[in-house]
Amino acid sequence: MAEITWELFQSQVEACAQCGLCRGIRHKVPGQGDPHAPLMFIGEGPGQVEDEQGLAFVGPAGQLLTRMLAAIGLPRERVYICNVVKCRPPQNRVPTPEEAQACLIHLRTQTYLVRPRVIVLLGSTAARNLLDPEIRITRQRGQWTERKGVWMMPTYHPSALLRDPEKKRDAWTDMQRLRDKLIELGLYGDLYGAEAPDQKSIST
Ligand code: SF4
Repeated sequence: MAEITWELFQSQVEACAQCGLCRGIRHKVPGQGDPHAPLMFIGEGPGQVEDEQGLAFVGPAGQLLTRMLAAIGLPRERVYICNVVKCRPPQNRVPTPEEAQACLIHLRTQTYLVRPRVIVLLGSTAARNLLDPEIRITRQRGQWTERKGVWMMPTYHPSALLRDPEKKRDAWTDMQRLRDKLIELGLYGDLYGAEAPDQKSIST
């Protein structure tokens, strides 16, 4: 069996035609960021801007995610960001369960390569495919689950925050929970090279 490497992962995604989503796309969007980040974000699928550029989370939702990370002192380049499916669904529809299942092999490979300690699941598609098929994001967001030493938390997808700004308050609470988990695990200062901000400075 061939050794799993980032080069192999990239070539497998590029060549993949395991589902119909690859028809009509401009670019595959494998994901990007620190290849050994302790913190990984997983969203649903590429949108229009991501499809044009071949990069994950570079459209308006991605820009919001970058600001949310900055708000808890994390530079985006120190995390790894990707999606459940690597090809843009037509009209940004939700990927079908079959499409998500077909693409999970790529997500498993990149999770194996990154080996994150903490994973944030952005939106229902990521949470249902990686945590619980019955999950209700509005009820179960912000809750931590530990699997084989990896801590996972579902929260709203940034696109949902753009559609409904009322959700931003809850999303901010989840980002604070994320910061607290990173501090608890000793990852915040050590791996991000930043002093853990106190509660007051984060909240204002
Ligand atoms: S979405 Fe995933 S499984 Fe489907 S063709 Fe693209 S890379 Fe392959």
